[in-house]
Amino acid sequence: MKVAVFGAGAMGSLFGGFMAEHGHLVTLVDVWKEHVHRINEYGLELVGVSGDRTIRLTATLDPGSVGPVDLLLVFVKAYHTSQAMESAQPLVDAGTTVATFQNGIGSIEAIVQHVSRGQVLAGVTSWGATVLGPGRVRHAGVGDCFLGELDGAMTQRLDGVSRAFNEAMIPVKTTDNILGLVWTKLMANVAINPLTAILRVHNGDLLDHPGSEELGRLALAEAVAVAKAKGIRLLHDDPQEMVREVCRKTASNRSSMLQDVMAGRKTEIGFINGAIVREGDALGIPTPVNLALTRLVQTIERTYDCRVT
Ligand code: NAD
Repeated sequence: MKVAVFGAGAMGSLFGGFMAEHGHLVTLVDVWKEHVHRINEYGLELVGVSGDRTIRLTATLDPGSVGPVDLLLVFVKAYHTSQAMESAQPLVDAGTTVATFQNGIGSIEAIVQHVSRGQVLAGVTSWGATVLGPGRVRHAGVGDCFLGELDGAMTQRLDGVSRAFNEAMIPVKTTDNILGLVWTKLMANVAINPLTAILRVHNGDLLDHPGSEELGRLALAEAVAVAKAKGIRLLHDDPQEMVREVCRKTASNRSSMLQDVMAGRKTEIGFINGAIVREGDALGIPTPVNLALTRLVQTIERTYDCRVT
């Protein structure tokens, strides 16, 4: 399969690396010059839970050099999706499938502004990765990945793309309820990410303090109300218990938003709690706790250079 990965950071390099290792013709596309040059010169160095090795594959800064692909995998941060899809146009023709495993809500909508809805597959992944430096990525965790058509149909195209991932040792299951899975993962992110980032604590710490526990519970209740009003079929009957379970199982983890805040980077808040606020506004459902968490994280982002220490 001819594959392009748009956004070859932690997850894009990981998925692209696995696919290249298992016989797919993969090009990584990124705007990060040093990373692209290093991969082309020395290969992609993958370390971590799947073993340490160097994978030879092509990376480019120029989407126009690749030509249309069978599979375009979008792995930029959610807030770069629209801009990335604009530059990805030379990679897409009527036969291209565009797949995203990005977190949050809003990336799919940004993608379908640029390609037809029927070309898009959505996914969720429990795999984790971190960029260690240019050309160097750590595979931090494995777990289930799911992929589905936006309308829930079980198609041959879905089977074909999922087979390609599985042949590349990325365990992808097909589902007729991918939006339910995307929103279920969103529920955990809504309750955990902003609070860990604002309070600078590990996931497990949220349960130990009545204040953080209550705020997480209230933010989640708003998000569940929005999901229900949209007719989303969540995967758990008791999302509050699901989130507590995630906090317990990942007690010593730093959420991605905490990592972003600690590194002084932009976060995906606008596609997590901010998305709940937007969707709630559209449906007339109040989301004051999500609004407060969004504004706090946005203010943290804007005050990185004037923190009192
Ligand atoms: P990342 O920041 O490591 O990688 C994003 C890459 O996109 C960067 O290398 C950046 O240079 C590149 N980029 C930005 N704008 C671009 C453009 N216009 N064209 C091409 N490339 C561009 O991010 P990540 O951690 O790999 O996360 C990607 C997505 O996957 C996010 O939505 C994240 O929430 C999700 N996700 C991450 C993990 C994880 O463990 N890292 C796990 C599950 C899901």
